[in-house]
Amino acid sequence: MHRTKILEETDRLMTVCNSCRYCEGLCAVFPAMEMRRAFSDGDLNYLANLCHACGACYVDCQFSPPHEFNVNVPKTLAIARAESYAAYAWPRALSGFFARNGVIVSAIAALSVAAFTYGFAAWNDPSVLYGVHTGSGAFYALMPHNAMVLLFGAAFLYAILALAIGVRAFWRDIGEPIGMRTNLASLWQAIKDASRLRYLEGSAVGCFDGEDPPTMRRRNFHHLTFYGFLLCFAATCVATLYHYLLAREAPYAWWDLPVVLGTLGGIGLLIGPAGLLVLKAQRDQVLIDQASAGMDTAFIVMLFLTSLTGFALLAARDTASMGPLLALHLGVVFALFITLPYGKFVHGLYRFVALVRYARERQEMARGTANA
Ligand code: SF4
Ligand code: SF4
Repeated sequence: MHRTKILEETDRLMTVCNSCRYCEGLCAVFPAMEMRRAFSDGDLNYLANLCHACGACYVDCQFSPPHEFNVNVPKTLAIARAESYAAYAWPRALSGFFARNGVIVSAIAALSVAAFTYGFAAWNDPSVLYGVHTGSGAFYALMPHNAMVLLFGAAFLYAILALAIGVRAFWRDIGEPIGMRTNLASLWQAIKDASRLRYLEGSAVGCFDGEDPPTMRRRNFHHLTFYGFLLCFAATCVATLYHYLLAREAPYAWWDLPVVLGTLGGIGLLIGPAGLLVLKAQRDQVLIDQASAGMDTAFIVMLFLTSLTGFALLAARDTASMGPLLALHLGVVFALFITLPYGKFVHGLYRFVALVRYARERQEMARGTANA
């Protein structure tokens, strides 16, 4: 007996698949499933988060609809995955954010942009707000650096705390000890698998997006998004080091490291999310969890808007538009930060944790085979 209907259905499918085993070469889900004879709730959430939604097992399955077995692994695991995000959310009172994510993220983004715009207009004289500010410290003429650090530091720390508690709950639920007993080899294997999105290949042929043959487009756009995000984060870290270690204040010249990293990352965050949105619209509806469409889209759009407003600010930072554009960009970034623990961003963390566990299980199995 499982705690939700979708976990019951996932158990049913995994039991069918465990008898069939036709798809065992496609991804990590099926080998992990084969290591078990029965499935706890945690096992099913582990398998759901191990799935990369490539769609290959649906296309290959002889028991998919209209067969009476009604086996649809990608969609079932997608629903289970989405429910697991809400189950591990902290604080629990905000777990409902996942179900209405599109509306909530849109409302928070609109409120955040409105608050920054109002704040800039209320605290700055129009001659300052619409003035031209150039050179070191120009941004801080509109919003003091300490206020920026306080606001964004608090939002960032809150997001980190909420995400860490959620990951801890997932880690415990899938049966791993809290004392991070995992070894470095499994961690390294998971880093390699996650960094190249190994299981988004669908057995080296790509993802099944629609009517077309499978392609690597989804993996490539995901790479652009993922590495774009990391580069933008690196740009922020370098800028922080510049500020505190070298006493060099933003904005920086176009050739300076924070701007170069931010520009490269920003390009990734324009092309990657745009491509993912197009593929999402083209995707065969039978493969996806329609109820999660708002959550998926909201996060992608927020990443795209973060990059778009960042580029607008970069392009117009030496003009009278800098003040309003800075308010717009900060409003979008702030909304992105505070919604990170309650949206699609969490899929990366849970999937990585699942990959760590999978790598450890594979190593233990290989050791057991070698000792036998
Ligand atoms: S998805 Fe279908 S073909 Fe693949 S293992 Fe399960 S039952 Fe077999
Ligand atoms: S959709 Fe792809 S990643 Fe998910 S279980 Fe099927 S083959 Fe594996």
